[in-house]
Amino acid sequence: MEHISMRLPGNLEELVECLEEADENTGLISGGTDFVIQLRQRKLYSGTIIDLSRVEELRFIKEDGNNLRIGAATTLTEVSENELIKKYVPALAQAAGQVGSTQIRNRGTIAGNIGNASPCADTVPPLMAFDALLKVINGKGKIVEKTLDEVVFGSGRNNLKSDEVIIEIVIPKLNDNYISAFEKLGSRKAVTISKINGAVVVKYNSDKNIIEDARVFLGALGPKAFRSQCGEKALIDRAPTQAVLNDFCHALINQVDTAIGGRSSQAYKREAIKGIAHDIFNKLFESVVPGGDS
Ligand SMILES: Cc1cc2nc3c(=O)[nH]c(=O)nc-3n(C[C@H](O)[C@H](O)[C@H](O)COP(=O)(O)OP(=O)(O)OC[C@H]3O[C@@H](n4cnc5c(N)ncnc54)[C@H](O)[C@@H]3O)c2cc1C
Repeated sequence: MEHISMRLPGNLEELVECLEEADENTGLISGGTDFVIQLRQRKLYSGTIIDLSRVEELRFIKEDGNNLRIGAATTLTEVSENELIKKYVPALAQAAGQVGSTQIRNRGTIAGNIGNASPCADTVPPLMAFDALLKVINGKGKIVEKTLDEVVFGSGRNNLKSDEVIIEIVIPKLNDNYISAFEKLGSRKAVTISKINGAVVVKYNSDKNIIEDARVFLGALGPKAFRSQCGEKALIDRAPTQAVLNDFCHALINQVDTAIGGRSSQAYKREAIKGIAHDIFNKLFESVVPGGDS
């Protein structure tokens, strides 16, 4: 007979106590927007579920020296509406604000989006583009920092051990020369899972009108989001002109071909990436290159 037991830690100390006893039959639930669906799909589930929703210490957004720190159980609504995130990590605010619906964003958490490790998770490309680090605690109470690439295995699996939980996301604050943007495209306008998404962070020198550095990450083109070096090359050391936008589009089309060449979705995503490239570029350099066609 199936037997599910729930653990409801009320603080970090109690969470560690729960983790100490965790094994391969232990599951974590935060907002539950993914987990409950997985539970239903698995139909059979036997084990312990640790509910993180009462650990208030996991719910915060703060500035700390050179970093922004976001508690793991901070909701996507809180992330999308927070003034610090909008100021320092606009691409993340934009991504969180485009997840699902208001109800999903009110329950869904940032660490749940990472832990779910979906190829189309919207917050992952911006977090990767900003070089975010994850603080992970284990059943011995030890806290380590891991990159997103280490934690996200992809295709719905993460690399965390059964006694490990993300407790915090640490994002280095970039100076005013850095601007960022996120875009996604799904099959409809609202409550849509990304068929393709992308985040770009650029260091733009407005005095010289030059893009001095760029980080481009694309999602939903493989098991997990990845860096597009050809996309970056099309931008770096150049002025943000229509010609550069065209080169950026072509670079990302090539990236699609490399990532999913021969798949049935290739033709659609080749077109879709043009819109993503265009919209991101216009968001970044709106005042520099008004409109334009790729
Ligand atoms: C209708 C609908 C629309 C959606 N639209 C989008 C969308 O547009 N874009 C998008 O990216 N996602 C979307 N999602 C997916 C989902 O809402 C997000 O992934 C959300 O951020 C998950 O957060 P949660 O707190 O609900 O996670 P949960 O469901 O609680 O957990 C998800 C997974 O992460 C693990 N986990 C949770 N917290 C932690 C932690 N602190 N440390 C380690 N692992 C943890 C859980 O064990 C589980 O495996 C949608 C879901 C639904 C149902």
